[in-house]
Amino acid sequence: MNRNESEKIKCLIIGSGPAGYTAAIYASRANLSPVLYEGMQPGGQLTTTSEIENFPGYPNGISGLTMMDELKEQAARFGADIRRGVVTGCDLSQSPFKVTIDGEKSIESETVIICTGATAKYLGLPDEAKYRGMGVSACAVCDGFFYRKKNVAVVGGGDSACEEAFYLAGIANKVYLIVRKGFLRASQVMQNRVFNHPQIEILFHTNTLGLFGKNGVEGAHLIKYAGEPNEEQFDIAIDGFFLAIGHKPNSDVFKNYLNLDENGYIQTVWGTTRTNIPGVFAAGDVADPHYRQAVTAAATGCIAAIEAERFLMRI
Ligand code: NDP
Repeated sequence: MNRNESEKIKCLIIGSGPAGYTAAIYASRANLSPVLYEGMQPGGQLTTTSEIENFPGYPNGISGLTMMDELKEQAARFGADIRRGVVTGCDLSQSPFKVTIDGEKSIESETVIICTGATAKYLGLPDEAKYRGMGVSACAVCDGFFYRKKNVAVVGGGDSACEEAFYLAGIANKVYLIVRKGFLRASQVMQNRVFNHPQIEILFHTNTLGLFGKNGVEGAHLIKYAGEPNEEQFDIAIDGFFLAIGHKPNSDVFKNYLNLDENGYIQTVWGTTRTNIPGVFAAGDVADPHYRQAVTAAATGCIAAIEAERFLMRI
């Protein structure tokens, strides 16, 4: 093929988390000969979590890396063409859809399944990187179990932070909720849950300066009323430090074509993975502000592949 010529395919899958690989398994088995581009972080967010203990079928847990390797192997076994590369541009105005990879390669596909995920936001402290997987986490449901009867902190004041604090309070001994303003942004019902929980202590007007600990997190340095006359610095003893300050869906490259919600999540027709453009589907965290679980991502990847197959068959 000429270097300037577009490669023409039936099904392009973008992203390599549980949604992307599951879509690839189903699309391959449906003879759609899918091409999957792995994206910036092959394997997705789960490759950065330690152990996955809540994916059905793994009674002893499985590491995120192993699960992603096995999903990839399973997709490849049925013929999915899995490639390194990042989508840098697209034209979804008409079918076949044109997608640019790494700024140079052009693909034309009759269907596109977007599984580009979301990236958890971090505060940007060097200690977050230092203790990643050693007490720092951005997913209470994934990692909370490791903190049974221990003390933890959650940063954030939105629905996610309150939900994570409430979830962790059912496992841990004590949960500090570190909120930078003097109020919570969460819905009233979530606020009531954390305000009324005896194991949750809310630290308003408080920011994190750093973390400390020898072989993992043992505590956090905090500052209250930063820059005010009554500013004070103090430490809390914790084993786990959870970030819940929001996620950023990786949808920027599609924003000129697809309907996004106010936080950038791709909007899909309720109960489906269909976007506003027929033939373009979105699965996993890039379209899910609510659940963000490996199992729900895999499930929507499956749905997207079945919908792509039906779209191609015009049924
Ligand atoms: P939000 O954007 O709603 O809240 C983020 C929180 O993190 C805010 O309290 C914000 O503080 C704080 N924050 C942001 N950056 C920093 C920082 N650098 N340092 C300290 N604090 C910071 O995100 P969520 O993930 O909570 O929610 C996203 C959306 O999903 C919302 O619409 C929410 O309602 C929805 N959601 C719904 C749920 C449900 O209905 N069960 C569950 C989870 C989410 P500040 O207020 O000062 O800006």
